[in-house]
Amino acid sequence: MSPDCIFCKIANKEIPSNFIYEDENVVAFNDLNPQAPVHFLVIPKNHYSSLNDINDKKVFGDIFSAIPKITEKLGIKEYRTVVNTGASAGQTVFHIHVHVMSGREFTWPAG
Ligand code: 5GP
Ligand code: ZN
Repeated sequence: MSPDCIFCKIANKEIPSNFIYEDENVVAFNDLNPQAPVHFLVIPKNHYSSLNDINDKKVFGDIFSAIPKITEKLGIKEYRTVVNTGASAGQTVFHIHVHVMSGREFTWPAG
């Protein structure tokens, strides 16, 4: 838990949120400012500032194994996953999160 981290507060239920998924290690919730008809974030309950900060490989499995469970529940088969690492890559919240977006066409390369 990092005291000023908004996603820690969400994960710890200090800020009420509607989780679309929760297990022992991760939670998922809809993005406040969605960039697609479906846009949710998957975060570990433990605080890691970014991908560069993860010192336990299990965290990757915890996050990425949750995603197909959630998309299956939502009836989604195709989706974009994004992890922004560092400000110049677009990271604005420094608690690692995976964006999962669906419901429209996506272009590549990402802007
Ligand atoms: P980043 O730019 O760090 O990759 O993504 C941060 C994401 O978190 C943004 O898409 C932003 O809309 C979302 N976000 C920021 N604050 C909150 C919040 O308090 N609640 C929710 N649900 N999403 C948030
Ligand atoms: Zn945090």
